[in-house]
Amino acid sequence: MKTQKDIDVIVIGGGLAGLTSAIHLAKHHTQVLLIEKNTFPRHKVCGEYISNEVLPYLRSLGIDPISEGAKEIRKINITTTKSHLIEGILPLGGFGISRYKLDELLFQKAKEEGVQILQETVDNITFHNDLFSVFTKEGKEIQSKIVIGAFGKRSNLDVKMNRKFIQKKSPYLAVKAHVKGDFPDDLVALHNFKGGYCGVSKVETDAINLCYISSFSSFKKHKNIDEFQKEVLSKNSYLKDIFESTSPLFEKPLSISQISFETKSPIENHMLMCGDTAGMIHPLCGNGMSMAIRSAEMASEEILNYLEQKISRKELEKNYLRNWNKEFKTRLRAGHFIAWLFRNEFISELSLSFLKRAPSLLPKIIRLTHGKQKYVSSRHL
Ligand SMILES: Cc1cc2nc3c(=O)[nH]c(=O)nc-3n(C[C@H](O)[C@H](O)[C@H](O)COP(=O)(O)OP(=O)(O)OC[C@H]3O[C@@H](n4cnc5c(N)ncnc54)[C@H](O)[C@@H]3O)c2cc1C
Repeated sequence: MKTQKDIDVIVIGGGLAGLTSAIHLAKHHTQVLLIEKNTFPRHKVCGEYISNEVLPYLRSLGIDPISEGAKEIRKINITTTKSHLIEGILPLGGFGISRYKLDELLFQKAKEEGVQILQETVDNITFHNDLFSVFTKEGKEIQSKIVIGAFGKRSNLDVKMNRKFIQKKSPYLAVKAHVKGDFPDDLVALHNFKGGYCGVSKVETDAINLCYISSFSSFKKHKNIDEFQKEVLSKNSYLKDIFESTSPLFEKPLSISQISFETKSPIENHMLMCGDTAGMIHPLCGNGMSMAIRSAEMASEEILNYLEQKISRKELEKNYLRNWNKEFKTRLRAGHFIAWLFRNEFISELSLSFLKRAPSLLPKIIRLTHGKQKYVSSRHL
């Protein structure tokens, strides 16, 4: 077993939350080790629409998605299972960029800022005498003062830690593919179908990203993805048009299952959890990536205060928990409620037809699931 010395912070997981916190901390001369089990770059199942809420912060870290070709998105279309259309304007707007590109940009930035990267799988973390020990499957033991848990929505570590949400079966699966065809650059569409919804928007390569989430019970009645798309998604005429008028860019779609929206804890065994590891908002709200980035920013600020000995470990944990709840609790509740409305075909049809008659409500509902665009503190620059 090897031990690496002088690490202030170990970040477990190199998704948006992990990479963002690693860059933020390294920019402030913190010795950071990021452990990620997979290689970069790679595609991930995601709607790839990000709210502008985090754009100034990303820019302050030296990442500018717009200059990398991300599509600026201002409009939203929602269609019901019966193909009724509601058109709206996104209050804050957002941008479309593939995870292949965004995660790679952040990964390169992290390396540039001096973050050490280890491509291994963490399989245990312990905390004794104010010090963490992180163990990898490959046999390393590494110690640090702080650990950030940014290992996504479902990981071997959740099982190891016996987290509550992992004990419940989750009935959702998701599919994502890039396709070629015509679609407005400035639009994100949410097309509902029986048992789920499909997000459609463009990314920096001009590809259209199709990403849908469905209940497993609806999917399992069909032989495969193709049949499910034909028999269920295509009942919505907007989705039928998209499937018929576009051609696939992936050899086969990516899929994931066991997506859970159960409540999680942002602190576990003195570890600060960021992104989906702390809590996941329903993808329908298009805010998970912003929450991952924003939580990483919040954790990093508190960790810097701790490392500069301005606050104790107890205060670090208390402050992070308080700020996390203040920032995200309402969004998560609103997200759960909206997802519940959409789950029932009759109620969702009724609520959407009400929304069609009162379109000024749409931006208000969107605001409930999103944060505000924040000015970036001078500490970031
Ligand atoms: C179907 C779907 C559509 C979505 N659409 C949108 C959208 O349009 N807009 C939006 O804002 N959000 C969307 N989201 C949410 C968004 O994808 C997530 O909130 C975001 O990816 C969270 O980032 P993260 O860094 O927390 O996790 P991730 O990006 O999942 O990163 C976690 C990382 O940890 C690594 N890891 C896990 N375990 C270990 C281990 N033991 N050791 C080492 N590494 C490990 C993984 O390999 C992974 O790279 C969607 C989610 C889903 C499921």
